[in-house]
Amino acid sequence: MADTSTEYDVIIVGAGPAGLCAALYAGRGMLKALTIERGLPGGELLNTELIEDYIGFETILGRELAQKMAEHAKQFGAQIVTDTVERIRKKADGRFDVETAKGDHYRSRTVILTAGGTPVKLGVPGEKEYAGKGVSYCAVCDGAFFKGERLAVVGGGDAAMEEADYLTRYASTVFLIHRREEFRASKIIQERAFANPKIEVIRNATVPEIVGNGTNVKHVVLEDVASGKRSNLDVGGVFVFIGFKPNTQLVEGHVDHDAGGYLLTDNRMMTSMAGLFAAGDVRSQLTRQITTAVGDATTAAIAVEKYITATREQEQASAAP
Ligand SMILES: Cc1cc2nc3c(=O)[nH]c(=O)nc-3n(C[C@H](O)[C@H](O)[C@H](O)COP(=O)(O)OP(=O)(O)OC[C@H]3O[C@@H](n4cnc5c(N)ncnc54)[C@H](O)[C@@H]3O)c2cc1C
Repeated sequence: MADTSTEYDVIIVGAGPAGLCAALYAGRGMLKALTIERGLPGGELLNTELIEDYIGFETILGRELAQKMAEHAKQFGAQIVTDTVERIRKKADGRFDVETAKGDHYRSRTVILTAGGTPVKLGVPGEKEYAGKGVSYCAVCDGAFFKGERLAVVGGGDAAMEEADYLTRYASTVFLIHRREEFRASKIIQERAFANPKIEVIRNATVPEIVGNGTNVKHVVLEDVASGKRSNLDVGGVFVFIGFKPNTQLVEGHVDHDAGGYLLTDNRMMTSMAGLFAAGDVRSQLTRQITTAVGDATTAAIAVEKYITATREQEQASAAP
């Protein structure tokens, strides 16, 4: 049972690959640790069908890897509670207060933030209205609802192209709509998507509106970037993959971050707020993969151990008569 009356060595926020790996190392390091996860353990792995680039597994289903990671972390004593962290606050005494949606307050010497990111919204009319009625941010979750339909995928990065490719299992045609000529996705992913006969690429166009009949999406409005000319594209669903916003707003007070809002850390994964560590997709770095998430988390959990030892020694020294 999670205990709100105790002081934890570390609270890990999120149980995606980074959080689970941090929990495993915290367990091995005999730290008094608690992991708080708002959903099922696994994070983005639960939204990923097949993983082909996690070293040691030629192919593995995302949900299978999530389960393996959670079981492995639990073998080392990981304690995971289901709750949503609403606020992380560093108090005057140097301890962290982690407040959850259930109204619990957990006290900890350190925090490892591994809360990943939230999909960026298009912010156009119809998007909110039809969310869950044809507008989706997760192909694996919702693709099967669109068997035989025409679908739109909006975006130009890895996620957009991978998800467009995935959706062709169900859809008759997937229109991949990108506002630029060039795609940001890696070459190998682009080649796979372009070679897929069910994907039709629409370049230099935006989606200023999603239109439906009140119950389902019926079409998207396309706007040509150069001419501004508008046309309708009949689709039964719209999948939006235009980026992720890191879940860093939970921290009260300033923490150094990059232009995208990703947290800056030193090589121990510690942020500019002493005792607050960041790992995985919340952290500013070149790439965001499972391997980088677990790598960050390993460093963060080991750095937490050293930080706690050092701060305990300091506290004992200053308390000595
Ligand atoms: C569609 C898709 C396909 C991908 N395919 C691959 C691939 O093939 N190979 C690869 O290496 N990488 C892939 N990635 C990237 C990879 O999934 C991520 O880099 C990795 O999951 C990041 O791990 P994380 O633990 O940092 O974050 P996440 O996996 O996002 O986990 C964050 C966790 O924090 C929880 N959380 C968030 N906010 C709170 C809160 N306030 N309170 C409590 N819990 C909270 C979330 O519920 C979530 O479980 C893919 C990503 C996507 C989106």
